[in-house]
Amino acid sequence: MNQIIDPFNRKITYLRVSVTDHCNYRCHYCREEDHVTHTKRSEVLSFEEIAKIVKLFAELGVTKVRLTGGEPLLRKDILDLTSMLGKIPGINDIPLSTNAHLLPSLATQLRKNGVNRANISIDSLNSKRFKEITRDGNLNTVIKGIDSAILAGMNPIKLNMVVMKGVNDDEIESMVEFAINRNLDIRFIETMPIGLAGIEAVDRHFSEKDILERVYKIYGDRLKTISSKQTDGPAKALHIEGTSTNVATISAVSNNFCESCNRVRLTAKGELILCLGQKDSVSLRDAVRSGMSDDDIKKLILNAITKKPEKHFFNSAIDNISSRQMVEIGG
Ligand code: SAM
Repeated sequence: MNQIIDPFNRKITYLRVSVTDHCNYRCHYCREEDHVTHTKRSEVLSFEEIAKIVKLFAELGVTKVRLTGGEPLLRKDILDLTSMLGKIPGINDIPLSTNAHLLPSLATQLRKNGVNRANISIDSLNSKRFKEITRDGNLNTVIKGIDSAILAGMNPIKLNMVVMKGVNDDEIESMVEFAINRNLDIRFIETMPIGLAGIEAVDRHFSEKDILERVYKIYGDRLKTISSKQTDGPAKALHIEGTSTNVATISAVSNNFCESCNRVRLTAKGELILCLGQKDSVSLRDAVRSGMSDDDIKKLILNAITKKPEKHFFNSAIDNISSRQMVEIGG
């Protein structure tokens, strides 16, 4: 059957799978303080259902599956899922997005099961501030998680810092230093107006231009541009000569990098989301549970792809933006 190519000639090779919409952290730009996840177990895709959907995507040309959430490591027996995904023909890249809180006891086995790399969220190196941003987080545990991923041989490990004006923007330099000292990459993310919490965070927006100005001030001509092919995603990256570290920015608001978008998202409830900035979705869970044939599910996917928008409209029309919280979509 066909490969997944959308109406704007973009080939979809990357599926982001949110395995749970529960999270042990409550980052204030990601979910509102009183947001509670009520999703029932029966509403969430089982591992068998996830593996079936991933296999169908793989048959349609998807090669990379990211596990995200909520916090993916909260999902009981997550190692069983990674071992199932690692055996699907065609899937050769299984990165993980995590807050690393539960990584210390899981990193080695995750790596053995094919989780080759990780993006780890860390918004501050100051314990008190870290706790304020995450509402429940523990910086020491997260640093232990990062070190366990290094020890397990995950590579690359990219640290994700959401930069917010007046909250943590004074830590850009120390975060780069932290990454260099551990031979990791660092990505600075602009706040995105996703869900109510994200829309509220727009006030604290700190632009890519301002982030890069600060990085250039210190590392100047040691910064060498990395081609977008090498970064395999929306990040604009620079290598710091004399180190193993790449510094990147993810600037969904300042820039529109939709032209090269190669991804779609599957929520924990099995909704296929074609664009972070779109309200519509298609339920693959209902399709699987209705006993639809594999070929018909693939046709459903290919039909859904025809609705993938050309670009998101973060700048112009808040109305167009999904009311789902980021914690439900998986970033
Ligand atoms: N729990 C995992 C984690 O901490 O990475 C995965 C899920 S989390 C939703 C994925 C990424 O989305 C994190 O790097 C987080 O910082 C980012 N994120 C959440 N809300 C955001 C927002 N409003 N703007 C920008 N990034 C956001």
